[in-house]
Amino acid sequence: MSDPERSQDPGLRPRPRFDPVPEWVGPSTRLVHGARRPEYNAGAVVPPIYQSTTYHFPSGFSEAADRGGVYLYSRLGNPTVEVPTELLRQLEGGEAARLFGSGMGAFTSLLLSLVQTGDEVVALDVLYGGTLTVLSELLPRFGVSVRFVSEREAREPESVLTSRTRLAVLESPTNPLLTVHDIARWGKAADSVGAILVVDNTFATPINQNPLALGADLVFHSATKYLAGHSDLVAGGVVGANDLLSRIDTQGDFGSALDPFAAYLLGRSLKTLALRAARHNENGQRVAEALAAHPLVRRVYYPGRASAEEEAIASRQMRGRGGMVTVSLNGGAPVAERFLRRLRFVHVASSLGGVDSLASVPSLTSHRHLSPEERERRGIDDGLIRFSFGIEDPDDLVRDLTEALDSLR
Ligand code: PLP
Repeated sequence: MSDPERSQDPGLRPRPRFDPVPEWVGPSTRLVHGARRPEYNAGAVVPPIYQSTTYHFPSGFSEAADRGGVYLYSRLGNPTVEVPTELLRQLEGGEAARLFGSGMGAFTSLLLSLVQTGDEVVALDVLYGGTLTVLSELLPRFGVSVRFVSEREAREPESVLTSRTRLAVLESPTNPLLTVHDIARWGKAADSVGAILVVDNTFATPINQNPLALGADLVFHSATKYLAGHSDLVAGGVVGANDLLSRIDTQGDFGSALDPFAAYLLGRSLKTLALRAARHNENGQRVAEALAAHPLVRRVYYPGRASAEEEAIASRQMRGRGGMVTVSLNGGAPVAERFLRRLRFVHVASSLGGVDSLASVPSLTSHRHLSPEERERRGIDDGLIRFSFGIEDPDDLVRDLTEALDSLR
């Protein structure tokens, strides 16, 4: 007969480790096998959803909890959330990773954890709109000064970072103009002044680019985008060295925990990330070339296209150029609007990175909070269209876009 007191006490269960995969495996093998612990999951090949907020409280808990060894409460740790966390850590090649309830949750958590009054943050002035808002409106309220640098100034990070710079924030390729910045050069410049370089790798994906290997200290993602890949969940992630990660909201006090169901979907989606990224890359490349050849198109923005210098940087730091393509049409906003409404296979919707092709007009969505003058200064004209090409067949996308453009002439 079981002792009633003991049956309430499951004993200390250390958080299980994942089965290691050999160093030499490629990204797809890693994504399929990189987060297995079948003995823990009743032998299940697919890790289950631990839809529980809380866990039996074992005796001897305090010592184990101090060592981070047990589950206590799902804002602080959940076995399902650990699966995609581990996959993202391995893919980005970091010592540690954390997932959050959104990309913005990841970014604000890292900012609030790493900067303090009197610090200076340096950031590109062309970044995702939400990132710009947090930097320009939230940080100054806490006595952190933020200096924005133009794309031209960002070519020489040595002259923009100073001994006061605590953190530098970069996107490459940038949103929405897909400018490529030299991450290795930024990494060296940040090191030389003791600043932390944070790179938003959302657009590139870890399949196409690994900022940590290039010299960044932290990489962050809106996992909502390519990592999730199906436009059906919101999540964010941060990867880097143990010493930095152990300072980023370790107690979950900022409250941006990822929900177990979203984590389950994210883990499932990550298994196909490398396959999806290959098709996104192919579609981006094919469509960028086709659009550039059309007379109604004023300019195509695609990583590496802007100049020989950017092409050289992109070939050094990217393995593929991605599925994001931005275009400016002759005729401005009215023509852009008519064009978008004639497309069969492209939804007009914000966000990006999913299997369905999407298009958005940055001046109406991600950058609408900037004044027209500010947008113009950053090269974001009102007729600019940002495409996120999905995994449809490349010939079908090219045909859809070309027919829609031809019908406008
Ligand atoms: N970074 C980039 C480049 C983005 O495009 C976005 C969202 O669009 C974010 C960060 C914010 O991520 P989330 O929407 O998951 O909070």
